Amino acid sequence: MAQDNFKPAVVWLILNGKTEEALTLLAKNYKVNVPSVKVGLPKRHKVKAYGCYTAKNETISVLNSDTLTNPFVIIHEFYHHLRSKAVDKMHRGTEKNADKFAFEFLREYQEAVKRAQRIT
Ligand SMILES: [Zn+2]
Repeated sequence: MAQDNFKPAVVWLILNGKTEEALTLLAKNYKVNVPSVKVGLPKRHKVKAYGCYTAKNETISVLNSDTLTNPFVIIHEFYHHLRSKAVDKMHRGTEKNADKFAFEFLREYQEAVKRAQRIT
């Protein structure tokens, strides 16, 4: 896949409920393991959040099935996965950087949509 289609494709897949395919594509691109994804946050999670990442079992947990199709949440959590692949499996990467990482995907997706609309 051409690099300029990669980010829009990831967002499109998540929006269309193909979250596992999107994560596979992301993992392949960044050469990391494919993280697992599950609905329901871990019980110990006190703060109300839409998603969280557990480095120990490489799992992205999301609040509910709606969140599973929210590209911003999924890509944000994937960023934590990306940053935690080091040997010590610590939760890495700042929230600000995770947001920036996810935002960049959405921005490219929106630009691709605009381009597509011009040619119809
Ligand atoms: Zn985060």
